Amino acid sequence: MDEDAKLNLMSNNLKLPQRRTFRQQSTLFGLISGLLLLSACGSTSSSSAPPGTSAACIQAAGNSAVTFLADDGYQQDWDLLRPIFQDAGLPFVSAIVTNNLNKPGYTTLDEVKQLQAEGDEIVSHTVSHPDLNSLSDAELDVELKSSKAILEADGLTIKHLVYPMGDDSARVVAAASKYYQLGVEVGNGLNDPKALSLFHLHRVALGSYFDVIPSTQPHAPTNTLAYYKERVDEAVRTHQWLIYMVHSSGPGFDAEQLSNLKATVEYAKSQNTKVTTLSGGYEIAQKLAACR
Ligand SMILES: [Zn+2]
Repeated sequence: MDEDAKLNLMSNNLKLPQRRTFRQQSTLFGLISGLLLLSACGSTSSSSAPPGTSAACIQAAGNSAVTFLADDGYQQDWDLLRPIFQDAGLPFVSAIVTNNLNKPGYTTLDEVKQLQAEGDEIVSHTVSHPDLNSLSDAELDVELKSSKAILEADGLTIKHLVYPMGDDSARVVAAASKYYQLGVEVGNGLNDPKALSLFHLHRVALGSYFDVIPSTQPHAPTNTLAYYKERVDEAVRTHQWLIYMVHSSGPGFDAEQLSNLKATVEYAKSQNTKVTTLSGGYEIAQKLAACR
């Protein structure tokens, strides 16, 4: 079964990172929000905490987070996605398959290094994009360990993993947790900071491999700008972490979906949430989880 079929079968999803100016802003934001968080949540042991402490804590933490994560390291990540996020002054995440680096149709090592230098985040998507669960333990270890080592040998910082085809079975997770802080799957909606599953992070599809909702539930199409905006609204309203899955060269990713992506980025930027990397989203989720 090919990847398209598997992804469609399993359901749906996306990825992302940061620019230099963003990182500076982000550091400042972190300092300020940290101070606010301390003042808002600092004395939780006190029974005399003022009313509204929880709301203040949530706002100080960032209210919610949105991450755009692009899978597979397509050349379109550089050609199409980078300009969108640069224009917005926001980061995205690129998940790299190391065997594909520098091949036609995929980003080059120099481009990936520049993305990280600009504040975007680079994460691992294994060496060869296999069905991880079909591998022996030794082969599985090589896919997870070497992809990180290869990128880090070139000066990149690699903390997180995106499972090919979303395969996050227990055996795969056990192997991944030796090398990574977070593991990202396909589908399943938003991430609740108070019930965060670090190696089963959910995603919402944007532009390709669209979300599949059970036919027993009435629902609007999942490939529209309205659907993407609703997910942002949901994250803001429920203080959750939304991670979009983007395939910039995936089936269905046409000019309209590219336009939808740009509009979704701009919409998220205008709302009470923070568009950030996986590492940034994890930080916010931890702060949100600490709020009462
Ligand atoms: Zn992939």
